This record gives sequence, C-alpha cells and structure tokens, in this order.
Amino acid sequence: MTTSVDLGNGQSPIDIGGWVTSSGPAPSALYDSAASAVQRQPLPMIMFERGSEVRVGNDAYRLLQVHWHTPAEHTVEGVEFAAEVHLVHIGANDQLLVVGTMHELGAADEVIQRLIDETTRSEAEGTAPNINAVELRPPPDSFYHYVGSLTAPPFSEPVLWWLRRTIGTVSQRQVEGLQALTGGPNARPLQDRSGRTVLCVGCGVQAATLSP
Ligand SMILES: [Zn+2]
Repeated sequence: MTTSVDLGNGQSPIDIGGWVTSSGPAPSALYDSAASAVQRQPLPMIMFERGSEVRVGNDAYRLLQVHWHTPAEHTVEGVEFAAEVHLVHIGANDQLLVVGTMHELGAADEVIQRLIDETTRSEAEGTAPNINAVELRPPPDSFYHYVGSLTAPPFSEPVLWWLRRTIGTVSQRQVEGLQALTGGPNARPLQDRSGRTVLCVGCGVQAATLSP
C-alpha cells in the first residue's frame, strides 16, 4: 500500500479550448443566504448558511463557500487571466459543482472588493462576514462545462465545472488584496486534459439555428 494520493486522470485546472457546443441546460442560481464564517483550510473561504443553490436541469446543488485564486487557474485558448473566483456547491451523493468566473486586469470589481473587505474584517473582529450570497449570484450566461477536480487538496474527483464565458475585470490593487489574504499567488498549474470533452453551453444556439 502507498500513502501517496492517487489523483486520477480528471484533474483541474485545464486550458479551455476546442469546445463542443451544447444546447443542454446551464446553471441558474437561486441565492439568498447569509455568510456564516471564514475558514482558512485549505485556503481562505467564506462559508454560507443553507438557502442558496444552483439548479442544472432537475438537479440542485447547495452553495457551500466562495474562494479565489490569483492568477486565474483556467486559461481559455492559452489566454491567462489575473484572478478566478470559485463558488463551490454540493448536490446529491455529495457531488461537487463549482461555478467559476475569470477576471482580467482592468477596472476594480465590486464583488471582489466585498470579498476582500469582509474576509479581512471578519478575521480582525472574529465575527461572520457581513455578506449575502445574493451579492455573488452569477447572472445568466453561457458556460464552459467539463468534469474535473478540486484544484486544492484533497484534489477530489469528480467536480462538475461551470466556467462563465463572460470575463470580468479586477484591478492590480485588488489582486494584491486577494494575495495578501492567501499569502501570495495560489493558482494550481494547468493539468493534462487527458482527452476530456469541454462543452460550451448556450454558446452555439444561433449558429445551430442558422445551420441547414
Ligand atoms: Zn478554487
């Protein structure tokens, strides 16, 4: 027996490219619950009370926590981004689902500032973050979807990844603020795609309609 972790062939993050358009359902978020605490294992994250979920078709996944990575972990056709925010959910049979948003350097982002401010204040005062999940609710979007893993220990598989196709912005000052809370950059390197299919959901509807 070995004590090393068997990571399998479905690890995250990956470079998103060569996707297949899909007309399947995209996640829709029904968020309304208060933050309960900040946890620091394995990285700083704001936990949420019950009451917020995403639905994909008939399946519901409850919001557990939000955290972030700098630089972003996923790349799109080789393009790198400055930050990535992960909303982690859990569904039936403990199936994990993450909704991710990548941010490129640019204007300050209001939601990221709230994450920085409330994580900092919560830890200084020892109180729950004053933030409601509705502030983090991902708007309707098209999504890249594939099956991967957590990108921090224990690197569990499978994780259902839904990455928003809309790229946000983040200021350099905010990147530094996020890194101050994580003790520096905390992105996992790209992993081998290993033949996995990436779907783009809601991306090809018009093209498909126009095709003969
Ligand atoms: Zn993450």
